[in-house]
Amino acid sequence: MLKRRDFLASTAALAGAALLTPQDTLTASAMAARSTKGKLAFRFRPYTLELKHVFTVAAMSRSTTPVMLTEVEYEGVVGYGEASMPPYLGESHQTATAFLSKVDLSRYDDPFQLERILADVDAIAPGNPAAKAAVDIALHDLVGKLLGQPWHRLWGLDAAKAPVTTFTIGIDTPDVVRQKVKEAAGFKMLKVKLGKDNDREMIETVRSLTDVPLTADPNQGWKDRRYALDMAHWLQERGVLYIEQPLPKERLDDLAWLSAHSPLPILGDEGIQRLPDLVRAKEQGTYSGVVLKLMKTTGLREAHTMVRLARAFGMKILFGCMTETSCAISAASQLAPLVDWADLDGNLLITNDVFAGTTVVDGKLVLPGRPGIGVVKAG
Ligand code: MG
Repeated sequence: MLKRRDFLASTAALAGAALLTPQDTLTASAMAARSTKGKLAFRFRPYTLELKHVFTVAAMSRSTTPVMLTEVEYEGVVGYGEASMPPYLGESHQTATAFLSKVDLSRYDDPFQLERILADVDAIAPGNPAAKAAVDIALHDLVGKLLGQPWHRLWGLDAAKAPVTTFTIGIDTPDVVRQKVKEAAGFKMLKVKLGKDNDREMIETVRSLTDVPLTADPNQGWKDRRYALDMAHWLQERGVLYIEQPLPKERLDDLAWLSAHSPLPILGDEGIQRLPDLVRAKEQGTYSGVVLKLMKTTGLREAHTMVRLARAFGMKILFGCMTETSCAISAASQLAPLVDWADLDGNLLITNDVFAGTTVVDGKLVLPGRPGIGVVKAG
């Protein structure tokens, strides 16, 4: 069997060494890796993210988020992945450990078989979307590294088209909200969590300090469709661009009525998890847009398909996140040039990130040029 060093040498000799750029060398290296009979190796470990501020949304407050950090290794190249598991979504260190223990990637000798491998992982058990995403992201990172290209380039996307990201202001007292808005100076859009009894106070407090466009997320906290429609008009007058998940996701008729009447796009977040949910949302008319998150879509593979399908349906697309390290944020940002809006601030809300990757400059997402999802270990 041809060793990688020999393969590179022969490739260089054939092509003429002077003509081989570093990029070609990486590609040649990838082909060499592919031609060997190596096996994939998979590892995971639990980790806990510490939030800078206690984070309050309509249903609860919390100060930590459990995550699972994953690695897929092939021929000495390592891809990084992550599962972020806010407790209210039902996944945990325990459930992810149980699921990921069943993931046997040593059965595969070709990391480029993303479709087959990830379909097999999806079939291990229903649910577990974040745990599945942790495998998907690490495998994508690995494949991008083997090819020597970032995923946005493999998908033919222009990194300069990545949108600005919102920064999220959780529900709090006016004093704390004012403090958070001051800390968010530099962001060109702010997302305001609503859904308790102080909706108008939240918006008015933020508006008293900034003119940037706002977005609203009641997290299913509104219970009456008339109130929701009144708020949509009121919010539009105050420069709010769209509303995420205003009503409980089970209220299909009310959501369809609201989407038909609202002056602002109504985006399904809790109500749209995976591909079939997007199809149902289109059929039922419940939402005029969708909030995609890697931890809902089981990773990049299905998220990419959902972006294309939502576009075909004429729906608006927001790419969002959980509280995550720069690993999952950088993975999601690879698709950001395709979407209308981004809410990829999860890594900015934590104190113990373990990766560096996508950054925010002047409010805009700046994708790293590195291969794969573009992250390096921090510290
Ligand atoms: Mg939301």
